Amino acid sequence: MKDHSADPLDAFRDLLGAAHVQTGEAAARFATDWTGKWHAAPLAVLRPANTGEVAACVRLAAEHALAIVPVGGNTGLVGGTANRGALMISLERMAAIRAIRPEAGIAVVEAGAILSDIHAAASEHDLIFPLTFGARGSARVGGFLSTNAGGSNVVRYGSTRGLCLGLEVVLADGCVLDLMSELRKDNSGYDLRDLFIGAEGTLGIITAAVLRLSPRPRHHAAALAAVESLPAALRLLRRLQAASEGAVEAFEYMPRSYMAALARHRPDLRQPFALHDHAVMIDLGGLSRPLDDVLEAALAEAAEAGEVLDAMVAQNEAQRAHIWEMREAAAEITFTRLPIVDSDVALPLDGVAGFIAEMETRLADLDPGAETLIVAHLGDGNIHLTVYPTRDAADHLDAIREMVEAVCVARGGSISAEHGIGLSKLATMSRRKDPVALDVMRAIKAALDPENRMNPGKVIPEG
Ligand SMILES: Cc1cc2nc3c(=O)[nH]c(=O)nc-3n(C[C@H](O)[C@H](O)[C@H](O)COP(=O)(O)OP(=O)(O)OC[C@H]3O[C@@H](n4cnc5c(N)ncnc54)[C@H](O)[C@@H]3O)c2cc1C
Repeated sequence: MKDHSADPLDAFRDLLGAAHVQTGEAAARFATDWTGKWHAAPLAVLRPANTGEVAACVRLAAEHALAIVPVGGNTGLVGGTANRGALMISLERMAAIRAIRPEAGIAVVEAGAILSDIHAAASEHDLIFPLTFGARGSARVGGFLSTNAGGSNVVRYGSTRGLCLGLEVVLADGCVLDLMSELRKDNSGYDLRDLFIGAEGTLGIITAAVLRLSPRPRHHAAALAAVESLPAALRLLRRLQAASEGAVEAFEYMPRSYMAALARHRPDLRQPFALHDHAVMIDLGGLSRPLDDVLEAALAEAAEAGEVLDAMVAQNEAQRAHIWEMREAAAEITFTRLPIVDSDVALPLDGVAGFIAEMETRLADLDPGAETLIVAHLGDGNIHLTVYPTRDAADHLDAIREMVEAVCVARGGSISAEHGIGLSKLATMSRRKDPVALDVMRAIKAALDPENRMNPGKVIPEG
């Protein structure tokens, strides 16, 4: 038997081959995440080729008492992959789309498969995997499941949790948990699948999944509309849902702060009308009939009622893509400068306007010069609120964060709608999560990962 006591990585090199145990320059691509806020200095990045190798890596890591941080596309926004001295396990060599089964309406995929590759594969069978967001060209199955990602189509299709039927997970002791169900109904005991979705790598490593596909809409109708107020936007949403029989695929709020930032950072994305206080992006997806007339009629009715002030209906696919690009530039526009206090809250739909109004009043007291940027998946009450404070002092940033979460929670909201907790919201979890819920989470973590080696320090604040 070889002596690996000198360099524990030798054992991993024997297992995976030296090329798949990356250090130094080779691992540098993971050193900083997409936001530039979070950093990783791993002992090494491991690149297993199959579930058996992932399990063997986890067992070896246990022997050497090393922490493990799974990584997908590294596009998460909350510091979920940040670490110092851990083994990062990249699933990039496990990117196969094993099967698309049209009659069952499922895709069976490995956890390293890239979201846009799944879109392309489904489309060949006239199906869609509806989850979509700006980072779809990089985000991988394990990452979007572990963050329970949302995106722009939740209003019609639900978030990732509702789009996943089955999972395979390597647990902290190296056992493989086979939950690769293809069933739409299964009440045989606790729902273990949902435990791992949204767990951000703290309970195990997802290695494969069964995803649920939907019929591909044949017709799309999209528009950008300036609306009189947020309540007017919600009335427009109701009109559209009724007229289109629930075919609203995206209903995105892009108010003045967002459109002004878009004009500054992306002047190439020409805006069809002058700045208004409130604007929404609309996309309808018709399974069997065109919906342009429905969209135009609903906009005309709303204009008649004084609720829509201006609108541009896409006349072709290029114009629709242009409108989508205006919305999907959000992440690149947001992370343009530091310091920021970014939040990702969810509110009941009819609570969004009150939340924004109260937050703006209280921010003006805390930091009169602070700027805000708001963009929202309004159809599901999810607001991305970014504050750019005038001072970069930890207590000041904390006071702003605390104010935002207080206003949100008091109005029945959640402190994280879709991005998750990672490192960025640990203090918020301590302050805002129900203490009994936190105790239950700690008990689950201790049962599944008693040595606290799976993405330690993330999601659950210290007790
Ligand atoms: C431009 C842009 C737009 C975005 N838009 C949206 C949006 O609209 N909606 C939304 O919800 N999110 C959005 N996001 C953030 C979103 O969370 C991520 O893009 C995506 O879900 C993460 O996938 P990833 O493969 O990059 O995961 P990573 O960033 O690599 O990882 C995310 C977390 O999952 C864990 N993890 C990764 N792989 C595994 C695995 N195999 N098993 C267990 N744990 C694992 C990691 O440890 C980490 O905690 C956006 C990000 C960007 C950059």
